[in-house]
Amino acid sequence: MKTLVWVEHDNSSMADATLAAVTAASKLGEVHLLVAGADCRAVAEQAAKIAGVGKVHVADDAAYEHGLPENVAPLIVDLMGHHDAFVAPATTTGKNIAPRVAALLDVMQISDILSVEIEDVSGPTGDGLSSFVSQEIAESERPELTSAKVIVSGGRALKDAETFEEYIMPLADKLGAGVGASRAAVDAGYVPNDYQVGQTGKIVAPEVYIAIGISGAIQHLAGMKDSKTIIAINKDEDAPIFQVADIGLVGDLYKVLPELTEKL
Ligand code: FAD
Repeated sequence: MKTLVWVEHDNSSMADATLAAVTAASKLGEVHLLVAGADCRAVAEQAAKIAGVGKVHVADDAAYEHGLPENVAPLIVDLMGHHDAFVAPATTTGKNIAPRVAALLDVMQISDILSVEIEDVSGPTGDGLSSFVSQEIAESERPELTSAKVIVSGGRALKDAETFEEYIMPLADKLGAGVGASRAAVDAGYVPNDYQVGQTGKIVAPEVYIAIGISGAIQHLAGMKDSKTIIAINKDEDAPIFQVADIGLVGDLYKVLPELTEKL
């Protein structure tokens, strides 16, 4: 079985999320990669060094620079004539491309899988319905959520943006951790939506996930339940988060967190 994996990158370096997709694809059999971008030779060279990869397909054209699904998906569909499965990292861009590929192939999407095969990249085939306008990349000193080894995540209990900043960020800084949030915290405007962990946010699996003032709704668990060690702090001993937590602390976060941060 040949599986095509779409390589996520910024045209100069490969995103870590690609490695997880390659690991998943390698379980299906032979792995081929697709690097689609503009002036993306460095990414292709990086991708070719991944152990176990059989082939790297490169589509180097300005039309692929920003990973617009309208341009990339037809390219993938062309390649799927020679592959059995397609896998994409479960990132914002991967989630943008994979459903379009599935629709064009008239197949059901299986989350997190993408594939690329032949070198016949017949050229960009954008339908003109969309065009790239601009992108704003959030700058942060902290590790990116999907690759952070430790994540400190806050929920609705943090009350507002200032309180979230005051209580969550010092702990994250002490631990060198990435910062996540529940959808309730994002919807209430405590943090931007790229902090959201869960079914409709990011899927994470760090070494340590610390859920603070998060109830543990099924949609939140869907995004973090594979974390190696889950630590929960919640004042409600019956909160569902304690059912998945390896370590649970029943307490008021406003008392517990300053003490914990201070001790660390
Ligand atoms: P709450 O459920 O309100 O929980 C707050 C928790 O804080 C409570 O357990 C409470 O005991 C505790 N608490 C309060 N005060 C304190 C204190 N002083 N100290 C300690 N603990 C305290 N949610 C996500 O997170 N991610 C998703 O991707 C997502 N996708 C969704 C998709 C769909 C289609 C739907 C319908 C919902 C989705 N949700 C998602 C929402 C989800 O169902 C929950 O509503 C949300 O996760 C709740 O967030 P929360 O735990 O922060 O808030």
